[in-house]
Amino acid sequence: MNPLQTDILIIGSGIAGASAALRLAQDHQRQITIITRAAEPEEGNTRYAQGGIVRMGEDDSTDLLVEDILAAGAGLCLPSAVRILADEGPELVDEVLIDLAGVSFDRTSDGQLAYGREAAHSRPRILHVGDSTGSAIIQALIAALRRQPNIHIVTSATAVDLITFPHHARDPLTVYKPITCHGAYVFDQPNLNVRRYLAGATILATGGLGRIYRHTTNPEGARGDGLAMAYRAGARVINAEYIQFHPTVLTVTDGEGFLISEAVRGEGGRLLTPDGRPFMGEYDPQWGDLAPRDVVARVIHHQMIEHGYPHVLLDIHSAMSPERIKARFPTIFTRCMGLGIDITRQPIPVVPAAHYACGGVWTDEWGRTTIQNLYAVGEVACTGVHGANRLASTSLLEGLVWGDRAARDIKALDSLVAVSPDEVPQWEEEGLEEADPALIRRDMRTIQHTMWHYVGLVRSAGRLARALRDLNHQEQTIDTFYQTTKLNDALIGLRHSVQVALIIARAALHNRVSRGCHYRDDRAGAAPI
Ligand SMILES: Cc1cc2nc3c(=O)[nH]c(=O)nc-3n(C[C@H](O)[C@H](O)[C@H](O)COP(=O)(O)OP(=O)(O)OC[C@H]3O[C@@H](n4cnc5c(N)ncnc54)[C@H](O)[C@@H]3O)c2cc1C
Repeated sequence: MNPLQTDILIIGSGIAGASAALRLAQDHQRQITIITRAAEPEEGNTRYAQGGIVRMGEDDSTDLLVEDILAAGAGLCLPSAVRILADEGPELVDEVLIDLAGVSFDRTSDGQLAYGREAAHSRPRILHVGDSTGSAIIQALIAALRRQPNIHIVTSATAVDLITFPHHARDPLTVYKPITCHGAYVFDQPNLNVRRYLAGATILATGGLGRIYRHTTNPEGARGDGLAMAYRAGARVINAEYIQFHPTVLTVTDGEGFLISEAVRGEGGRLLTPDGRPFMGEYDPQWGDLAPRDVVARVIHHQMIEHGYPHVLLDIHSAMSPERIKARFPTIFTRCMGLGIDITRQPIPVVPAAHYACGGVWTDEWGRTTIQNLYAVGEVACTGVHGANRLASTSLLEGLVWGDRAARDIKALDSLVAVSPDEVPQWEEEGLEEADPALIRRDMRTIQHTMWHYVGLVRSAGRLARALRDLNHQEQTIDTFYQTTKLNDALIGLRHSVQVALIIARAALHNRVSRGCHYRDDRAGAAPI
């Protein structure tokens, strides 16, 4: 098998890319290449998911799940997409995750699946594996992929650019045809060169972009590469302004960015001011501490600004016994303990942080983008499911469902032929200078600060205009740096990060309506919810 000339190229090996690959591999005639920039295929946002994945709980129904997703999405969810998720998701959890990959979700003492509850869910319906659900899922999926003879996984391989015609075609007459994707130029990290991966169909599954913010729950590598590549190639991008901030992220030295799962509030955890006063009920009498993420994050932000608090507290020890805390949240317990916080006796200091991109590359109900032969699935895509604010534990499910749908759409295609290498030019490396890591780190920090302060939880025309001015200037500087410097993964990520930051800032400036997790306070004194 030649991974460089393949039927299907999948860029990204998180839950979305992996589930697409598993379905595609059932057709033994087709060859599938998966690339990932990480050294291990398990690395990506999926690995860090704690709370779990939605299935259908007891006393639950598809209609109830749809209602909850629509309510959290603040009027911007695409109802038909939400219905697909609720109809197909729970069955795929059983078929792909439990039966095929063998994920051992937690069970009750009588062997039934144990359901957790999370914010803004009207029923307990979240399957979990302790509080390290994502890790269990991705390990099982990658192990299943490795058992397929027609799947080839390439690690330490960073996509630089999608190969699209007419842009990369040798034949000038392709300009009269629709934009079509034929694979990607990919930087081979060990060999320091760029190779052409040519494919009949390409699936973009590169995940999120939280790393462009100063405070985030996302791991290194979540820097919006796929969004930037698709945008440059001419794909339609929508809802980019809807960046979800997770309300409860640990804030202590060496523990920054560590998520304290929403399931903690689902199990009775309460938010308190540093002097011990509960406050959520004042803002959202119906849901209180279980209000949707956007509301809780903004209320915390408001409390911090209003009273000058460095953080707020999350108290779980008043609601659960030490034994139950250790059994239900072993990862959170151990991590906090290692940092000097015993959560069975003390509240946890938390702040909001950038968590999830609700918008992304527009796709239809089959994961098709506006570029021919290019699909987008998972966090990089915008199917319309999450609207203006994602409901907890639905994004793993969306990756599973749309990964599967894109694969089914591709499977149904009669022919799938990769273009000949003669039709596509080799990558021309222009830069001669060695990359200076200090410059890359500094530039990345500047982007992160700009995004955090001016395109963060609370936005205004003035801040967004400042962000655009700074980011436009920075993009030019980075572009020159990029043209003159030898490629590496961090440099590719830096260029993508500044481009994605601009996409978000422009969308946020353009949209004057506060909705879900895009919140404008152009009116002085606006209430936080
Ligand atoms: C801390 C945390 C907790 C979360 N908890 C939950 C939860 O409980 N429930 C839930 O539903 N969701 C949760 N989420 C969100 C969820 O984990 C993600 O939205 C989801 O896993 C995204 O899956 P994905 O397959 O789209 O992307 P990812 O899992 O991020 O995979 C992206 C892949 O693309 C690769 N990649 C990126 N750029 C390139 C490039 N240029 N070239 C090659 N490869 C590239 C990466 O290496 C990786 O393999 C959580 C997220 C975080 C960060």
